[in-house]
Amino acid sequence: MTEKVALVTGAANGIGKATAKRLARDGIAIGVLDLLEDGAAAVAGEIEQSGGKAIALAADVSDRESVQAALARLRDAFGPVTIVVNNAGITGFVPFLELTDEDWDRMLAVNLKSAFIVTQEIIPDMIAAGWGRIVNISSSSAQSGAVKMAHYSSSKGGMIALTRTLAQEFGEHNITCNAVPPRFVHNTAMSNESFEREDMKERFQAMVDAGPIRRHGEPEDIAGAVAWLVSDEAGYVTGQVIGVNGGRYI
Ligand code: NAP
Repeated sequence: MTEKVALVTGAANGIGKATAKRLARDGIAIGVLDLLEDGAAAVAGEIEQSGGKAIALAADVSDRESVQAALARLRDAFGPVTIVVNNAGITGFVPFLELTDEDWDRMLAVNLKSAFIVTQEIIPDMIAAGWGRIVNISSSSAQSGAVKMAHYSSSKGGMIALTRTLAQEFGEHNITCNAVPPRFVHNTAMSNESFEREDMKERFQAMVDAGPIRRHGEPEDIAGAVAWLVSDEAGYVTGQVIGVNGGRYI
């Protein structure tokens, strides 16, 4: 095959950054997409310094025109895009009775509508190539529920439903679609904000201690799973929810 091209969203930080670097190490040219150009450019620069290929793309994944413009730049640089990792996301902690329509709509737009927009814009490249890989970064909160996170866990649950649907709709084109729902991945901007909250700290630590593998995850734990899911080896794996979560059952 000719060189593969991947778009990784939310790739300036945390899990997205680790994933972009890992896929680049595997010889894939990367569109490093994030809200701000500076963060994306720093990661693209790290990849290039290590001998990989990358381009920084500033875009808002919840805005179709912004995504289309970023994809045009990526295709100009490296060609058709046949791998997408929908990773960009935001979080939030609001008791259910205090959630506003605005809270709900923003969460669903950034975390779920984004995967609809980005994937819909890329799938034609995959169909033309007769090969494609979609990985949606969900959350273990979609499987278990999460206190004060109704809007977040609902957005992530939607990603799992979207994953199973796309797997069925596009499997005939040799396109796979899988979800990775992480749990407690440390050293990311999101987790630093979440785990340090006074009202959640003890609860989160107790949940980590209760798991079979008694540590937080690292961004590289998720990146490793994504790297396998986008590889040729994983071509018979689709519609799956691959928990990379230290052994959580629900
Ligand atoms: P992170 O460090 O905050 O990274 C998320 C990235 O997404 C940030 O660079 C952020 O940019 C970017 N982003 C936010 N809104 C965007 C938008 N509208 N358009 C483009 N980029 C946008 O978080 P992370 O912990 O690595 O999380 C990555 C994914 O894993 C998220 O979807 C998250 O829900 C999921 N996840 C994480 C954990 C965990 O324990 N860390 C657990 C379960 C699920 P800014 O910084 O500029 O806002």
